[in-house]
Amino acid sequence: MVSATAQSVGSEARTVAAESSDSHPNAQTVRDRSDEGKVLVPPAGAAPGTAEAQRPSPAESREFAQKYVAEKLALWQRNLKLSEWKISWAMAHYSDLKPRTVGQIHWDMPRQSAAILVLDPQDYRMPFNAMLDDMELTIIHELVHLKLTSLPHSEASRGSEEQAVNGISEALFALEHQKK
Ligand SMILES: [Zn+2]
Repeated sequence: MVSATAQSVGSEARTVAAESSDSHPNAQTVRDRSDEGKVLVPPAGAAPGTAEAQRPSPAESREFAQKYVAEKLALWQRNLKLSEWKISWAMAHYSDLKPRTVGQIHWDMPRQSAAILVLDPQDYRMPFNAMLDDMELTIIHELVHLKLTSLPHSEASRGSEEQAVNGISEALFALEHQKK
């Protein structure tokens, strides 16, 4: 049954499989971005020839990632014409996100404000550049969800929305990165 919740307030994260625990207080919906097994998996044999010395220090990488995500958020907010939204974001540890997700968004329609959580670099187990790409994909993914907030939502539509959002965000990401 479609619940009576007009999603004036909601959230969303990217999940890997059907989430069983979909009950949310205050009729909020959480949408997650799934980790798709890319995260927290020990590298299957460190890439040969990876120069450990070239890796920035954790603090430097974190700072870099922070700037990177902030830039990408501004870029995609513009691209998706979401400028009327006030969007904040923060890094979150894997344990603070819904199980098996790498990002989530919470929005408040009347206030036109939204908050995005992106997996903390510390919890990523992938090469630095791949991690940055993945963080950008999380931003795009969650913003696409935000773009869809005015559509009717139900538990039944959740799976198809997730698939559509995955497809759209991956296509946008690919187009943007082709240009370079
Ligand atoms: Zn999603």
